[in-house]
Amino acid sequence: MTVPGIASPVLDALQGIVGTNGVLADAAGMAGYLRDWSGDYRGAALAVLRPSSVAEVQALVRLCASLGLGIIPQGGNTGLVAGAIDTKGAGALIVSLDRLNAIRLIDADNFMLRADAGCVLQTIKDASEKQDCLFPLALGAQGSCRIGGNAATNAGGVNVLRYGMARDLILGLEVVLADGELWNGFSGLRKNNTGYDLKQLFIGAEGTLGIITGVEVKLFPKPARVETAYLGVASFEAAIALFRQARRDCSDLVSAFEIIGAECIELARLIDPGTTAPVTAPVQVLIELSSSALVDLNAVLVGFLAGAMENGLVGDAVLASSSAQAKGFWAIREGLVEGQARRGYHVRTDLSVKISDIPALIERARRFVVTDHPGWTPLAYGHAGDGNIHFNVLPPLDLADGEARSRGADVTAGLYDIAVGLGGSISAEHGIGRSRRQEFWSGLSPVHRRLATTLKDAFDPKGLMNPGCLLPPTETTP
Ligand SMILES: Cc1cc2nc3c(=O)[nH]c(=O)nc-3n(C[C@H](O)[C@H](O)[C@H](O)COP(=O)(O)OP(=O)(O)OC[C@H]3O[C@@H](n4cnc5c(N)ncnc54)[C@H](O)[C@@H]3O)c2cc1C
Repeated sequence: MTVPGIASPVLDALQGIVGTNGVLADAAGMAGYLRDWSGDYRGAALAVLRPSSVAEVQALVRLCASLGLGIIPQGGNTGLVAGAIDTKGAGALIVSLDRLNAIRLIDADNFMLRADAGCVLQTIKDASEKQDCLFPLALGAQGSCRIGGNAATNAGGVNVLRYGMARDLILGLEVVLADGELWNGFSGLRKNNTGYDLKQLFIGAEGTLGIITGVEVKLFPKPARVETAYLGVASFEAAIALFRQARRDCSDLVSAFEIIGAECIELARLIDPGTTAPVTAPVQVLIELSSSALVDLNAVLVGFLAGAMENGLVGDAVLASSSAQAKGFWAIREGLVEGQARRGYHVRTDLSVKISDIPALIERARRFVVTDHPGWTPLAYGHAGDGNIHFNVLPPLDLADGEARSRGADVTAGLYDIAVGLGGSISAEHGIGRSRRQEFWSGLSPVHRRLATTLKDAFDPKGLMNPGCLLPPTETTP
């Protein structure tokens, strides 16, 4: 087979490593790997490689290093910032981990699991549950994203408040380095204070320092009791005051605290037209308490809500009386994300500020959109317990796609300025990828840039690992 853009001896060598089935080089075969989940980004590649063993990953990387070919690691391709697809060129190879997808070990006694990087997050959660354990990383894309991608993006999700981000949940990594050598960073140890913690460098590096082939994670006791409530509050200020109260009254039992501006519910209806919010307040809160211990969670939640109602923080409250009803509450939250994608192009952000600054962030962002971009619809929702707000903006329905995208860039820039003005971050959990690289890089201090470049050069001197992602291209970038 001759493929435009890739010389046939190279193709032969690649097939020699992963077999003919492990190389996709035709447009139809590659299509699913070159389009992101939201449909916002499309990319190109010389070919998509699907190794089925760590040794094959090593051999591929060695070959690419010898030929000077760039490599883009890809997990479930659910990232929202164009990290796993090259939107600018077609000069690199995608290495998909989707065939490297086994659970290697579950050690419930030590609350630990080890899996191939291509293992789907939901598979890990299900396997943990069978051992009466919980792997708490939880996000809307958990049926498709893969644990290596979660590590590479330092994924967050709805349980960060209680359990932390991917970084806090990872015990060890196995990584194929840019020259093909394997670094085995598994130990199973919770405490290992012996110098540089190398795994932390690969977590959140978005595939720019090496290909993660295996991940060792912490498990927790599976919560035997979960209580979920959907609450109506008068304002975002009230929601944050409520959150503070919840942390004090419910101790560490709060496992999620999501806020949703009422205007967002319309989007969940695009996925399920029958969606109705259980309350009608301008700001809605989804709170979850969970515990594996013999705690009367219902009494804790009811006591907290009674106090919050008495002091006027909560208007309406609906407690889920079954797990099906709780699932329905969560479906509203998840439907927002899917509904936006269904609506088409929109400005999507992932801002973070100090929790106390959330009301100011939302107020300033709304005012900015209404005055500078009339006709655009601001939406605010997010993981309030982590100070993480997805402030998204829908273009007017009659605006042509091209025009919406170019004006959307101005909307995004304005929102970033507001977050940074509050001392916040332009990326709370989604990462930088290619779509936020410019803003990220230009916002760094010279010393931060120097350290980042030094790190990249040390791990990947030829600039072959995910070129163009996170860091600006260099002269050596292929
Ligand atoms: C509906 C929906 C809801 C979401 N909700 C959340 C949320 O709540 N919180 C959150 O944090 N994110 C969320 N995301 C974003 C996304 O799911 C996460 O960023 C996820 O961790 C990406 O995993 P993935 O396997 O799909 O990675 P990919 O998209 O394939 O890749 C992401 C990045 O990681 C790199 N990478 C992937 N695998 C490897 C590897 N094995 N070695 C080295 N680098 C690698 C890629 O090169 C790329 O830079 C959501 C996405 C969707 C579609």
